[in-house]
This record gives sequence, C-alpha cells and structure tokens, in this order.
Amino acid sequence: MLRPAVFFDRDGTLIEEVNYLNSLEDIHIFQESFEAIRILNQNGFLVLVLTNQSGVSRGFFNEDFVRTTHRVIERHLMSKGGKIHGWYYCPHHPQVGDEKYRKICRCRKPGTGMIEKAIKDNPEILLKDSFMVGDSLIDLETGWNANIPSILVLTGKGKRTLKEISKENRKKIDFVAKDILDASKWIINQVKGHPKGSL
Ligand SMILES: [Mg+2]
Ligand SMILES: [Zn+2]
Repeated sequence: MLRPAVFFDRDGTLIEEVNYLNSLEDIHIFQESFEAIRILNQNGFLVLVLTNQSGVSRGFFNEDFVRTTHRVIERHLMSKGGKIHGWYYCPHHPQVGDEKYRKICRCRKPGTGMIEKAIKDNPEILLKDSFMVGDSLIDLETGWNANIPSILVLTGKGKRTLKEISKENRKKIDFVAKDILDASKWIINQVKGHPKGSL
C-alpha cells in the first residue's frame, strides 16, 4: 500500500545545528523530535532524513562518522518509539575536497537525488502526498524541485532563513512551523483534512 512520506533535514531540524558536527557528544536531538516522529509513524507516514554532509568532502569527518551519527540518533528515537525509515546523506561538494568527493552530484540538496533514492528503496512512498521539512532555503528548494509542499522550521537556521528569504520564495512556503513537532502536526492535519483521505 502506498504511503506518504515526510522528508526531514537533519541539522537544525531534527537535531541542533552545530557547525559541521564531528563529535558524537555534540548530537543534541530536539526534544520535540521524539513526539514528532512518533505521531507521524502512528499516522502512517514514512519518515526519512536527507542531509548534506559536505564536511566529508572538506575532510572534517568521514562517511563512517556520518553513518555512526545516524545510528546513534536512530537508537535514541527508537527508545521513545520513533522510527526513521531511511537516512540519506550527500558527502560531496561541487568545489571543495579531494577527487572522490569534489563533484557536481545529483544528491546534494536542493537536488532531488536523495528523494529519488529514498523512493527506490521504499517503493511504497506516495510522493505526491509527501512533504519536505527543513530550516534552510535549500531544504525548501528541494521540496519545490520534487513538487511537494515545503515547510520551514524556525529552529536551527530557520529564523535567519525566514528573514533573508525573497518575497517570491516566502510566498511559496506552505507553512512556517515553530519546530519539528509543530510541522508534523500541521502535516497530519493536511492529510486528515484531505477530502479523499489519503490515509
Ligand atoms: Mg539544516
Ligand atoms: Zn552528493
């Protein structure tokens, strides 16, 4: 059965933004994330995380560290009943880094490569009823590029994003949410309020 998905940015959205997180001790999951993921699960959404990690290309940390970080976050969320269905990261950078990682890729947000990969891995995703949530313009653009609604959270860089965004882009944001929980509740209401009831 097809199910809608919520694609979350990681830094500043699911966990606190620290500039190029490179120590497991610096992982601080927002308190709101636990309930947010749980209620999305309960309402039938797949939950996926899409994160640009150019720190790999820049040599600040390696891919193993990124994957370990995700396992740590996942374990914490699981302990409170929240399930993440997939983690996707882009280790590349278009200009910086060694040959392996310095390239123009399809995965780096605002590209939709990670969404496409997520759909390949989870064919039950119903993209047209899915949502993108993040604290940066590139997150919003990722959603727009995939033709799904984009929600801005005011955590992380969100307040600055809102302040600096163009009028034209401001109009395209579907919802400005206080945090990930606020965003998730809004998403659930959208789908419940849908006349055909996608769930
Ligand atoms: Mg972010
Ligand atoms: Zn990439």
